[in-house]
Amino acid sequence: MSKNETWLSRSLAAVWHPCTQMQHHHSTGPMALPLVPIARGEGAWLYDFDGKRYLDGISSWWTNLFGHANPRINAALKAQLDRLEHVMLAGFTHQPVVELSERLAALTGGHLGHAFYASDGASATEIALKMSFHFWQNRGRPEKNRFLCLTGSYHGETVGALAVTDVPLFKDAYAPLVRQADTVMCPDSRQARRGETAADVARRAAAALAAKLEAEGEQIAAFILEPLVQGAAGMVMYDPEYLRLARQLCDRYEVHLICDEIAVGCGRTGSFFAHEQADIKPDLLCLSKGISGGYLPLSIVLSTDAIYAAFYDEATTRGFLHSHSYTGNPLACQAALATLDIFAADDVHAANRIKAAQLQAAFAPLAAHPRVRHLRQRGMILAFDVDSQDPAFSRKFYRAVLSREALVRPMGNTVYVMPPYIVTPAEIAHLAQAVTGALDAALENGETATPPSDLA
Ligand SMILES: *Cc1c(COP(=O)(O)O)cnc(C)c1O
Repeated sequence: MSKNETWLSRSLAAVWHPCTQMQHHHSTGPMALPLVPIARGEGAWLYDFDGKRYLDGISSWWTNLFGHANPRINAALKAQLDRLEHVMLAGFTHQPVVELSERLAALTGGHLGHAFYASDGASATEIALKMSFHFWQNRGRPEKNRFLCLTGSYHGETVGALAVTDVPLFKDAYAPLVRQADTVMCPDSRQARRGETAADVARRAAAALAAKLEAEGEQIAAFILEPLVQGAAGMVMYDPEYLRLARQLCDRYEVHLICDEIAVGCGRTGSFFAHEQADIKPDLLCLSKGISGGYLPLSIVLSTDAIYAAFYDEATTRGFLHSHSYTGNPLACQAALATLDIFAADDVHAANRIKAAQLQAAFAPLAAHPRVRHLRQRGMILAFDVDSQDPAFSRKFYRAVLSREALVRPMGNTVYVMPPYIVTPAEIAHLAQAVTGALDAALENGETATPPSDLA
């Protein structure tokens, strides 16, 4: 057995992999899903135990910003490791968590000056929902206890976060456990009718939101959305006009606006926060994924003074009652500080504008591909839909692209790339070539009439 095969079989025996039908890892049929053992990472590349390499075209589930084993982040973490690995954050504090909170507040122009910590994105969603609900309780308006989200929204997969997640693959099996939020029309630009612009679609969706809030705003605590790009829905993109109108409506009907920037934050869409492109400010902001550079589990909910003030009281029960053992972990905060240091030292947004243009140019020929629909891009996210009825399309594509030395994992019939920001022009060319080759390979075989299945 090769080293690869050894780790693969030991993993299949002992590790229950996320978002995976484990049977598919043993299967050899059309639904076969390869399991790839990774020995090390460097820059945009992942290497297996036999030296085979893969370009990380999706930043390891959208977390990695500045490459694997980034020397600057590594050095910061090694230094922190020798000072303090962890201390509880109730009743104690430490330098990395203080500095990170201050720097994040500064990035919001001081608007969101209070940072609450957790370890994963779903917990950040739940914290934001609980904060909003408890805010209205504390303000004497307990009837405001429901939430709104967009169709196709994804805010995490814990039972609380599933309440505002509208992706059937993740939600349907657990629906009886969940207090489901209401959904309103998503401003997905692909819905444009003849003669309509993306901004027109945004206005149409905002009209639906207005009607919902006019009818039920009295009972609604918060509206949560993913600004500009709905990731897990299949890189659904929409016009910033929607955010401007949603902000106005939330103000009018006294509903908190929660921006879930777990995927789109940290420069991914062209500005540090995606909502900046609409020139609005949320009441609550969720961050995770890229904030630690893709190194360690860390999530943060930033809130306004007004929300913070509603909890400030003599009574413990009016305080925000939520904690995790690793809240504000110093190593994770230090990884985030090192990540923000890179943003401060290098002109990351300007460099990303050039890389985004390179991505656009490299993938532009696909627009003419007979099976490609809706080629679209927002900053360092590029996506297109594939016209195929083959339920195994995403599997076939995934296997085909891995064999071309790239990690690109379609969601249903949507293929997307979201590389780390350190990707070079040569690596972008490699990615485009691998995606184009894999697309043709995956489409080569027979089609069936059943609807497509999902990978995530
Ligand atoms: C990934 C993601 C989450 C959940 O984060 P986890 O760390 O996976 O729990 C929530 N919201 C959005 C928009 C995400 O992309």
